[in-house]
Amino acid sequence: MSVLLAAYPALAEFEIKLPAAVDVGAPFFLKMYGPEGFTGIHLRWQNKQVYVPAVDGKAALLLGASLESSAGVHPVVGELEVDGRRRTFAREITVQARTFPEQRLRVAGEMVSPDPAEMPRIEEERRQVRQVLDRVTEQRYWDEPFVRPVTGSVSSQFGLRRFFNDQPRAPHRGVDLRGAVGAPVLAFSAGQVVLTGDHYFAGKSVYIDHGLGMVTQYIHLSETSVAPGQTVAAGQVVGKVGATGRVTGPHLHFGLSVLGMWVDPLPLLQ
Ligand SMILES: [Zn+2]
Repeated sequence: MSVLLAAYPALAEFEIKLPAAVDVGAPFFLKMYGPEGFTGIHLRWQNKQVYVPAVDGKAALLLGASLESSAGVHPVVGELEVDGRRRTFAREITVQARTFPEQRLRVAGEMVSPDPAEMPRIEEERRQVRQVLDRVTEQRYWDEPFVRPVTGSVSSQFGLRRFFNDQPRAPHRGVDLRGAVGAPVLAFSAGQVVLTGDHYFAGKSVYIDHGLGMVTQYIHLSETSVAPGQTVAAGQVVGKVGATGRVTGPHLHFGLSVLGMWVDPLPLLQ
């Protein structure tokens, strides 16, 4: 008599939705539907780790291929948890190279080469933002459909290779949406406000943690209307469009970070 030891939980009991290929800088979803007793996934992607709890047999996570991703095959590996038992799974995603256009902008001189006296302030603001982007709250506040923060069209896409007054600077890590000064800016999804401020380059800013490593950024505002610690609903007004910080005119710069990496929010905006 032979004893057959089947691996449990069986992968066949899961429906796993994941794209086969994505572009550099693009966001993408991992969605899993599991059997009864499915409680969550421990996941690793591009040197980041996250635990995604399952609710009613379903787990959903937004991931992204960072701008620094090399083109080629990247592993998505993890452990599925069912009734306290774990089962490893592994998938591959092909990250496809994308060429981003150049953009040349003219701004005030101090927005390209700040007074050295401003550097401690700039460094402190960078540190605060980094800390917020690296948060991985083990609860999902976000849900679909996502809300376009302002109705205006795109004036600058994500990923543009930027030159300010002919000086090369970091690529554009969000999307610029047209809007008049004072137009309401809406929360992309439900979450908790984790940072507000009036920053040197970003001007008046709001950052919202949507859970599971998703954080959104709304900057260059004329006014912020929420405070850190406050929970917000999808579509709630968080501030008003402005032209504060390093800008050439009024607009909303909207940033989407997943697991500490900026990705292109445009595919998720209606
Ligand atoms: Zn921008």
